[in-house]
Amino acid sequence: MNTVVTQNKVAQAKTDIRKAKPENIKAFLTEIGEKPFRAKQIHEWLWKKSARSFEEMTNLSKQTRDKLQEHFVINPVAVQEENRSSDRTIKSMFQLHDGHAVEGVLIPTDTRMTACVSSQVGCSLSCKFCATGYMERKRNLDAAEIYDQVVMISQQAEENYQIPLSNIVYMGMGEPLLNYKNVLESIEHITSPKGLNMSPKRITVSTAGIAKMIKKLGDDEVKFNLALSLHAANDQKRDQIMPINESNTLEALQEALNYFYDKTGNRVTFEYIVFYNFNDTLEDARELWEFTKRVPSKVNIIEYNPIKEADFQNTEADRLDQFAAFLENKGVIVNVRRSRGKDIDAACGQLAIKKK
Ligand code: SF4
Repeated sequence: MNTVVTQNKVAQAKTDIRKAKPENIKAFLTEIGEKPFRAKQIHEWLWKKSARSFEEMTNLSKQTRDKLQEHFVINPVAVQEENRSSDRTIKSMFQLHDGHAVEGVLIPTDTRMTACVSSQVGCSLSCKFCATGYMERKRNLDAAEIYDQVVMISQQAEENYQIPLSNIVYMGMGEPLLNYKNVLESIEHITSPKGLNMSPKRITVSTAGIAKMIKKLGDDEVKFNLALSLHAANDQKRDQIMPINESNTLEALQEALNYFYDKTGNRVTFEYIVFYNFNDTLEDARELWEFTKRVPSKVNIIEYNPIKEADFQNTEADRLDQFAAFLENKGVIVNVRRSRGKDIDAACGQLAIKKK
């Protein structure tokens, strides 16, 4: 066995301090003869200052830092590769401590600096138009791994554009609601004054549509925004592109979203990618309008970025315009989202770790 493997095993045997409960950290501090109030300082180093090592915690004694180091580990996420688009989008590949990798994207616009983050390594939902859907789901990210992506993308925004991060979308790799606990915990840290202190109104979690978990969001009275990847407003079409629809039909989603709205007062955003000759006719727009009447909602129409794994194509500009105009004329709140970062495979649905 080589030294690196041995060291990794030792590192893995230690507890990840960002997963430890505050009471356990306090108990540890008492055990080593430290004052329990040090736990607050450690929390601040870990979450507010994003310390990557115990060495950085300079208001703790050297002895305490050494003891922490012996007992705990910090597993930070590292930027392994950065790709820059001609439209200023930056895609990063983030290396995780166990050798897996995920992708995250900084999307600068005139009015926003948005971080798009991943919640799982791969995805189990196999949406036909999505590059991640062709990867095997390996595991959920923990809260700190999601949080680290936000911190690093935020640093990219400051360093490259001198503008702070304004929005976060959970639209990267994975289905956030199948990693519910860790996603919510990451949002707690992002919104906490002891973390990044961002407003939950600037955070959007996007789901492929898991009715039971949408209701749970309602029960938990979450304050962040919810988006649902709809892409077709009839079951027969949606089944063809999103296998999750077979067990979470439009009727089930409608009921869950109304429940969510009753509990939170938040209207959902329907994400609708317009595929050429699949869901881009005026009849499709009419079905979408009918569906929006049943759920308090708004609609984002999104250009498609073809991937090599699937045959779908982006619709034509005039078909997209007619589609959007139809909805607008019916009084639907519509945003057309032009694609970003296409040249570096950073656009919606294109995230996948490319094997070299
Ligand atoms: S669209 Fe989202 S839920 Fe569907 S396969 Fe891709 S990452 Fe998974």
